[in-house]
Amino acid sequence: MTSVTDPYELKQRLHAAATRSIELGLNALLITPGADLRYLTGYAAPDLERLTCLVVPALGKGDPYLVVPELEADQAQASPLGRLDIQSVSYGETADPYAEIGRRIGAASGIGLANRMWAEKVLAFRAVFPKAELSLSDAILGQLRIVKSQAEIEALTQAGRAIDRVHARVPELLRAGRSEREVARDIAEAILDTGHESVDFVIVGSGPNGASPHHGYNDRILEPGDQIVVDIGGTMPDGYCSDCTRTYSLGEPSEEFNRLYRVLYEAQEAARVAVEQAVPFEQIDAAARDVISAAGYGEQFLHRTGHGIGLETHEPPYVVEGNKELVRIGNTFSIEPGIYFSGRFGARIEDIVVATAEGAESLNNQPRELVIV
Ligand code: ZN
Ligand code: ZN
Repeated sequence: MTSVTDPYELKQRLHAAATRSIELGLNALLITPGADLRYLTGYAAPDLERLTCLVVPALGKGDPYLVVPELEADQAQASPLGRLDIQSVSYGETADPYAEIGRRIGAASGIGLANRMWAEKVLAFRAVFPKAELSLSDAILGQLRIVKSQAEIEALTQAGRAIDRVHARVPELLRAGRSEREVARDIAEAILDTGHESVDFVIVGSGPNGASPHHGYNDRILEPGDQIVVDIGGTMPDGYCSDCTRTYSLGEPSEEFNRLYRVLYEAQEAARVAVEQAVPFEQIDAAARDVISAAGYGEQFLHRTGHGIGLETHEPPYVVEGNKELVRIGNTFSIEPGIYFSGRFGARIEDIVVATAEGAESLNNQPRELVIV
């Protein structure tokens, strides 16, 4: 199995980006640290005030090069980028890297900028390329990143297994009398123990806190009879992210909650079954929403059904009403319907799936039934 930073694969991505740039009439793409840079070169560069910028000239306008502060040049070369024959243009403390890039590219009519570039850098490039139309790299890299390669799917599979191992440990952490904060601290440790490099988020929403989809955790003490939404994710050493939600119950839930949870379970399954090549993403959202609405909980399903995932936890495609984009083999995204009753309780089930020729393959495989602790 090739890795996500295999030089051949990275070179293909750079070539695709350069090709698409010429098609869109750009002179070059300017990629500052972040997921786009890591996607193209494997370099997880620190995002600091000094400029680090990969310049990808449009096809036929030269080879890519990395403009990098002198003090970070070795770090860049030690990353997978160092195996790509990308010229490194390092600069000292008194040099102007923006002017250097301007000089190298020359008069430009179209420049693509990394979506997440800092505003101060955008404005510096604006001054260097006064006549260029600036656009977002998303038009190019978004289209590449949205379809995962085999190596990326393997990376996300490993991330999914790692977070599954954390969920397998969660029941032993949930005890009446412990606070959400204590549980969250243990979960964070488990996320690191299971192979992640960093913890991205830990949600322990107990009782009424479960009704707030983006609740983190606080000092609420778990009580017998609580339902607890545990939504957790981290980043693996290769940069790929995990994200998985299961709902737990301290003791037998009420009849009312059981009914709600059964509806949610069916909705989540309906959305997974709806995943098929060339189906619009909004149809997957509708598959979950229809089940929930038919049971009378439509008002309580507050958010979209899912989001893409890869080098970022939230990235395109979004599984949401109005997204008429069609599912492509190799798309990876979450399916996470939820039902929330403000002030009382909530429930959510979330899996990351990959779209295959046979439909959705789930990368999370802990049981989806309510886990009674
Ligand atoms: Zn999540
Ligand atoms: Zn999610």
